[in-house]
Formats: sequence, C-alpha cells, structure tokens
Amino acid sequence: MHLDELYAKALNFDMLTIEEGMALFEQAPLTELMFVANELRKKQVPHGKVTWQIDRNVNTTNVCIANCKFCNFFRIPGHADAYITDIATYKKKIDETIRWGGDQLLLQGGHHPELGLQFYVDLFKQLKQLYPTIKLHTLGPPEIAHITKLEKSTHKEVLTALKEAGMDSLPGAGAEILVDRVRRLISKGKCGSQEWLDIMHEAHKLNITTSGTMMFGHVETVRERFEHLVKIREVQSRKPAEAKGFLAFIPWTFQDVDTLLTKIRGVHNLTTPDEYIRMIAISRIMLPNVKNIQASWLTVGKQTAQICLHSGANDFGSIMLEENVVSAAGAPHRFTYKSIQQAIKEAGFEPQLRNQQYEWRQMPQVIEEQVIDY
Ligand code: SF4
Repeated sequence: MHLDELYAKALNFDMLTIEEGMALFEQAPLTELMFVANELRKKQVPHGKVTWQIDRNVNTTNVCIANCKFCNFFRIPGHADAYITDIATYKKKIDETIRWGGDQLLLQGGHHPELGLQFYVDLFKQLKQLYPTIKLHTLGPPEIAHITKLEKSTHKEVLTALKEAGMDSLPGAGAEILVDRVRRLISKGKCGSQEWLDIMHEAHKLNITTSGTMMFGHVETVRERFEHLVKIREVQSRKPAEAKGFLAFIPWTFQDVDTLLTKIRGVHNLTTPDEYIRMIAISRIMLPNVKNIQASWLTVGKQTAQICLHSGANDFGSIMLEENVVSAAGAPHRFTYKSIQQAIKEAGFEPQLRNQQYEWRQMPQVIEEQVIDY
C-alpha cells in the first residue's frame, strides 16, 4: 500500500480499513501523520481554538466486585476502607466545584453488589433538586451493565430511568480495548465488548450524549487497537441523525504503578511520547465521524499533550478538580484553570472553556483558588 494513496484517502474523510490504518501507524513518518491529522482537525473543527473544561470526578462508592487488574482504586465489599459517598460530602464537593469554576460532576464508582437502579435514581434526583444547574456526567457502560444485571432489566429501561432522574451524559468509561481477548485478561468482571457497544448505541437512540475512550499500552496488539477504533466508528455510524452520539474520543495510556497487571503479569506501560502522538493522529484519521479528539494530559503529561494539539487533537479535557482512579495507578500530572490555559497558549492556540456538550462557556467572573484537600 502506497502511503500517498492512504494520505489521500484520509484527507478525503474515507473510512480506512484496519490494514490501511495499521500501514499508516507502522510505516508513515511521524511528521507526515501529524500533518494529515492536523489538516483533518482544521476541517472538522475550523474555529481553531482548543477547548477545555472544569469539572470534578466524584466517586459514588469504591466498593467493586469487578476486580480489574489495572485498578488500585476499588475495595472489596466489607473492606475497612470501603465507602458510599453521603449527601453531606456531595454538598461540600459541589459547593467547592462551583466556587472553583466547575459546572459538572463526573460521577462514577465501582460495581457495588447491592446498589441497584433505585439508589442511582434517588441520588441523581436529590443532587438535581439541590443543584438544578450542575451537570451529571455519570456512570459508564460497565456500570449500566452491572445495574441492568442486578435489576434483571434492560439497558433501555435503566438508561431511560437514569436520564429522567438527571443523568446529562454518559462517559465512555470502561472501554479499555473493545476486544474480548484483552478484556478477559485485564477486566473480565466487566461487561464484554459487544455489551459496551450495545449500551452506547442504546444511549444514542435515547439522545444521551456520550464519549468514546481507549486505554492502551498493556496486553493489546496493534491490530486490536484498530479493531477498537473501527467498532467505535461503526456504532457512531448507526446513531440516529439527530443524536450527538460520541461527541469525543479520548485515547489514554495504561498507568502501571503498583497494579496487579504489573506486579503479577509483569505488564508495563511502554508507550513512548512518539507512539501516543501517533495514536492521537490515527484516532483523528480512523474516526472521521467523531468531531472532537482529546489529548490525555493526565496520563502523558503537558508537553506530549501540547504536541498532540498539532497532531489531530482539538481538546484538552477537564482540569479534573478531583480524580482518584487513574491517579491511584500513578498518573502524576495536574493542571489548574490558569495553567491549562497557559499550556494551550504555549502550544499556539486560543483556549476556550466548554461544557460536556462541547458548547462554549463564559469564564466565571470569579474563580476561587482551589485548595486540594482530597
Ligand atoms: S476499574 Fe472500575 S470496574 Fe474495574 S475494578 Fe476499578 S472500580 Fe471496579
């Protein structure tokens, strides 16, 4: 396959096959791959700004029976450190989030064996009664699958009830690699790849905004990364015309500090900055029907993320006023509302605050300096 032909197909927004994508990933010079992806970004996101967000990841519970091999966050039922977050804690955290400029909670937790649909419906309703304007970006397909199983219900019924209770959008959590060989090795307690995709398709039919993610750099092959990308774009192709579907795609790297995957199987994240930038460019090229590509500064750091803005990415994600899951596996990077904007400017772009629907937000007139106390 000649690289020039593949560049031409990519620039024409053609859907490249797995083999064509792999040929680009493995053979194209990085600068040429960056150029093609950057051209696509300029066409898909012509305003040229780099968007970012202020929200807070709050965990409903750390109790989980899924036992993912890359997760240091969860505790088994009955563990001394197990918790379910109470309303007083939510109030404190939401009040702080608003004072620190945020408009949203990313609300996730573990697969608690006793927390069914009613628990989440009551929680979302209560939070919305207390804070009608706060957005709830909540749960993820594996948690929806878990609740569905507990309730012996259907994805549609669970998603409909959660949406009515106050769910504003569904994060693309727990995708890892959407290939069951990989999932059996690293997260076999979670839903399989087809159920993850089915739940997203159901969410799209209910016009719930979602995002796609990919956690790579562990036991997957390069081909499996491409299978993942193709599955994401196929679900996106089937969304109803009026639905937003996957508003963004976020590839991020496995964090390996003290995880079982590293300690028992000896799996380390060996992803280099070059490889991450390639994956960002490839994501832009392989997903012509997903508008926003986000660079994961949390897992790869500021400098690599800045280069990604010239390699197809147009979004820097959230400053995450609180984050406990990925950080527990070693992600060391932090941004404040000032430093993220500075980083975007250093990379040569104008920063633009947004919400989860990728609508632009005015910067709050007063933002209190965050005191990190969690
Ligand atoms: S990643 Fe999520 S589902 Fe997996 S063990 Fe951790 S909390 Fe549970």
